[in-house]
Amino acid sequence: MRIVLLGPPGAGKGSLALLCKTQLKLKHLSTGQIFREEMQKHTALGEKVRAYVTSGRLVPDDLVTRVMVSRLAAKRYRAFVLDGFPRTHGQAAGLDKALEKLKLPLHGAVYISSPEPTLIRRLAGRMVCSRCGANFHVRTMKPKRKGLCDRCDGKLVTRKDDQIETIKRRLLIDHKTSKPLLDYYHKRKMLRRVDGRGKIAAVFIRAGKLFRQQGWTS
Ligand code: AMP
Repeated sequence: MRIVLLGPPGAGKGSLALLCKTQLKLKHLSTGQIFREEMQKHTALGEKVRAYVTSGRLVPDDLVTRVMVSRLAAKRYRAFVLDGFPRTHGQAAGLDKALEKLKLPLHGAVYISSPEPTLIRRLAGRMVCSRCGANFHVRTMKPKRKGLCDRCDGKLVTRKDDQIETIKRRLLIDHKTSKPLLDYYHKRKMLRRVDGRGKIAAVFIRAGKLFRQQGWTS
C-alpha cells in the first residue's frame, strides 16, 4: 500500500501515520521530521531548510520533492505512508512523475480535516518526542512520565514553529496551497477524507474504517 496523508498542521497526520505504520505495516516518511533531524545534525540540507522550517514557511517545491523522491528511490520502499508531503500541487505532480518511473503508483491520498480553533489548540500545546517524533499534548495527551516519551523514553520538546505567530502563518499558507492540492487528487479519484475532530482514538476508529472500506490491509 502506498498512501499520502494530507491536512493542515495539527490535523493529526503524524499520529495517523504511526497508526498506518503499525496497522498497515507501512514505512513512514515525514518531511518535517526529516528536516528537523537534518537541522539537528547541522547537515548541508539542514542548514538550507532551517530558515523556512523555523519561520513556518514552505521549503521550495523542487528541493522537498528531490529529498523525498531520492529517499524513496534509495530505500526501495514498496509500501509507505508519506506524512507532510506533498503539500502543494507542484509537489504532488513531481511525486507522481517519480513514482511512475519507479513503477510504484499511489493507492490513495487521505485528507484529515479539523476546524481551525481545534488545530490551534492542538499545536499550541503540542510536545514532540525528540527521538521518535511521537506527539503528546500538555492537557489532552499527557505522557505517563513528565517530559518523557511513552514509546521510546526520548525527551519531549516543544517545536520552535509551534509558537502562536508561526502557527498562524503555517495555517494561512496551508489555506492557500491546500485547494489546488486536494483538486489534484480529487480529479484523479484518489482523494479520501477522514474527520479529524475529537480525540485521537476516535480519529483512529474512523481511519480504520476507511482502510477496511478501501481494502487497505497489511
Ligand atoms: P511538519 O512537521 O509537517 O509540520 O513540517 C514542519 C515544517 O517543515 C513546515 O512548516 C515546512 O517549513 C517544512 N515542510 C515540511 N513538509 C514540507 C513540504 N512538503 N513542503 C515544504 N515544506 C515542508
